[in-house]
Amino acid sequence: MHEFSAACSIVDTAVEAARANRATKVAVVNVEVGEFTFLIPEQLEFNFEIASKNTILEGAQLNISRTPGILKCSECGTEGPAEMDPALPPQIAVFSPMKCPKCGSSSTTITGGKEFVITSIEAEVEASV
Ligand SMILES: [Zn+2]
Repeated sequence: MHEFSAACSIVDTAVEAARANRATKVAVVNVEVGEFTFLIPEQLEFNFEIASKNTILEGAQLNISRTPGILKCSECGTEGPAEMDPALPPQIAVFSPMKCPKCGSSSTTITGGKEFVITSIEAEVEASV
């Protein structure tokens, strides 16, 4: 239920932001999801629909933009997009050492791709009387 808890946190944050801005209805929620979060966009959308039921987010569109996973190699200093072992499902691949695409060293650290943030919300604000 990885995606469900992620969807719930999007809903909580967006509802709070919408309330703070006195929005009556949220139309679009834009999120940035890093490759290393291993969230599946389709699953996230599906769970967002469930989690947003009976909130002012109900019926809102979830726009997901993926950011690539970045590794930094401590052997040769290369920093760049991670190459996953295509033989492994991503949920398992994250627990195996990720190799530097240049020198093949396993002394790598993740420097990008763990983002999970709401970048913006498009909402309708109640017209002041
Ligand atoms: Zn390297």
